[in-house]
This record gives sequence, C-alpha cells and structure tokens, in this order.
Amino acid sequence: MENAKQWHHVFCHICPAHCARKVAVENGEIVAVVPDKESPYPSTPCLYNKSQIMKEVRSHPDRLQYPLKRVGTRGGGKWERISWDEALDTIAEKINGYKEQFGADSVAFLLGEPKELEFAFAQRFASVFGTANCVTPGNY
Ligand code: SF4
Repeated sequence: MENAKQWHHVFCHICPAHCARKVAVENGEIVAVVPDKESPYPSTPCLYNKSQIMKEVRSHPDRLQYPLKRVGTRGGGKWERISWDEALDTIAEKINGYKEQFGADSVAFLLGEPKELEFAFAQRFASVFGTANCVTPGNY
C-alpha cells in the first residue's frame, strides 16, 4: 500500500494569497489539488483555480532542483550541476568581495514568492550583512 493515494494539507504558493489546499499524492506525484475546507486559513478558490498548476510546477522538466553553474560563455545556455557547498561558497566569496570592494549596499537580496519563513530569514540576513537593499515581490 506504499503507493496508495494520500492527502496532505498544504498552501498554494502560486500567489501571495497562500490559500489552504489539500493535495493527493500517488506514486510520488500530485494527482489532485482541492480547497482545504478543514483548514482555519482561507481556502476560497480563485477565479480560475490557479492552484491546479501546482502539479505542473512540481513536475516540470525545467524546474530548478539543485545548484547549476554556467560553463562556457554567458548566454551559451550550458550549465553543470554543482554541490550545495560549492554554490554557497561561491556566493559567499562573491558577496563578501563586493562588500569589501564597494560597501555592503552594493549587494541587493531579491526574493521570490515565499514558501515558508524565508522572507524573515533573508531580511535578517540582509540586515546582518549590512545592506538596506532587500527586495520582495509583494507587500511583505
Ligand atoms: S489558490 Fe489562487 S488565490 Fe489562492 S494562492 Fe493559489 S493562485 Fe493565489
């Protein structure tokens, strides 16, 4: 029964409303997305029930699932997989270099749609780093 359909309580992250949803997972894939009427959080479906695209977002072949590093010339479209340690070391080296050379405000943190508490962590990180430039997609 390992592959039997199981329902999970989640939030839709397609837009900042973060509506409560239930997803059915079978064989590791999302097979259904419905409003979560049991949740104390808003579950009103949006006009076109856009949360349905959660299935496509999760399984899209172009979904970024691990760090990639460009190889060859910029715009050449060639990438190689690297470890998280290498990715974090590369980023740390670059932003610390910019901070040293141009000041902390030369670095801006640009945040996408949050899935959990990453805005709080990123804003704290930007504050500790010393930059006032922390940009979010909404009114967070
Ligand atoms: S269900 Fe619709 S309104 Fe709610 S978060 Fe998803 S896209 Fe936004």
